[in-house]
Amino acid sequence: MTDSVTVQLPDSAPCRAAVAVVRTLRAHGHVAFLVGGCVRDLLIGRSPKDYDVATAARPKQVLRLFADVVQVGVSFGVVRVRQPVGDGDICDVEVATFRADGKYSDGRRPDSVRFAGARQDVLRRDFTINGLLADPDRRDMATVCDWVGGIDDLRAGRLRCIGDPVERFGEDALRLLRAPRFAARFGLVVEPATAAAIRALGPTLAKVSAERITAELTAMLGEGTALPALALLVDLGLAPVVWPELVAMDPGLREARLRCERALAELAAGPTGGDLPRASWQIPMTLAVLAGSDRAWPERPEFAATLRLNRSEFQAVRRILALTGASALPVPGPGPWPAAVARWLRDPLADAALVALHAGDPAGPWSQWRQLRAAWPAAAAFPDLGFGGDDLRAWGYAAGPSFRSALAAAEDVRLQGGATADAEAAARAVLDANLT
Ligand code: ATP
Ligand code: MG
Repeated sequence: MTDSVTVQLPDSAPCRAAVAVVRTLRAHGHVAFLVGGCVRDLLIGRSPKDYDVATAARPKQVLRLFADVVQVGVSFGVVRVRQPVGDGDICDVEVATFRADGKYSDGRRPDSVRFAGARQDVLRRDFTINGLLADPDRRDMATVCDWVGGIDDLRAGRLRCIGDPVERFGEDALRLLRAPRFAARFGLVVEPATAAAIRALGPTLAKVSAERITAELTAMLGEGTALPALALLVDLGLAPVVWPELVAMDPGLREARLRCERALAELAAGPTGGDLPRASWQIPMTLAVLAGSDRAWPERPEFAATLRLNRSEFQAVRRILALTGASALPVPGPGPWPAAVARWLRDPLADAALVALHAGDPAGPWSQWRQLRAAWPAAAAFPDLGFGGDDLRAWGYAAGPSFRSALAAAEDVRLQGGATADAEAAARAVLDANLT
């Protein structure tokens, strides 16, 4: 059944760019629509991350129509139009030719694709809420075209596969994880046949590359939707597939979810107001919270097998877990603190570690330490010594490994509020002791 409703088009540069691309294509006789996530987001009043366009025009025709086009995946019929939006600014719009996917023999990607009509293009997509098209047929409005019942599902709060769920998950097993991600993000209930297929096919996730799995998990655990996402991973039987050892220790991830809940509350109430810096420590912190006191988790083969984190993320998980293991913080109070405490607190990942510690021990002093740390001036955390290695040489000492210990001793003095002269004395004492 074709349902049709209208949505308001926001007056943002990415939206204007995509609408201009659709209208240009239509003016030249090609069927074209806004498609996928942007239509879904506009329907529920969220601001779309990006706007995608789908069209009957072939990549070659798109190339001829626009002045600036990058060929990103021509074999899949995808090009990127660099659309001017005024004031010399440019917005990138992905334009994909309608296609139908061929057979999926590896459970990951189609063996071939062929260009097709709008309807077939919708039918190859994963979930009904992602299978909507919109025609920007009025100045600031678009008419939604729905061949799959996506509007009804959105209204009913339901996540449902387009077509036969067993078949659809069999084509691309990554969809097994996309389901809880979208359901958690939009607060949807996974429709029974879709949920049953996920439960039955969960183990086939093994066919998917660790990188794609990590990208999905990162998105679902980092969008502020970690709690419903974890509940769904358990409910849909995916948690034991993704984190077998974690589930073996904590069936139903009950403890992990409780810790996660505490961590999120602590983040929201703490000095950063829950406003996580996106990239570096968001996923590492969540994984450290999930690990609880199991600091060996990142070293296990299972961790590497399901979570191919990039090097810096992996190091960050290890670092946060190491910090949580070495937490000998005194009763919270104004600085200066003992040098070992100051060194712990000035670690860039200490805030994440404090949140992880709070998650496991909410009665501990972690919140107070987060406040103290946030108010700690950088000049006190990274004090100026007033001298360096060159100066030690100028004082007549021969360069060697003791320089490091001398500078560390001097820094200890400064971290505890000592004067530069005392820091120098501490450095000299180390170097002199080394001479004898
Ligand atoms: P997000 O806001 O997270 O970007 P999105 O819906 O835009 O959500 P994308 O991963 O950017 O999701 O994909 C764009 C569209 O392409 C989806 O809305 C869906 O129609 C289709 N799609 C993406 N990945 C798949 C997949 N693995 N299987 C089937 N269709 C997919
Ligand atoms: Mg998208």
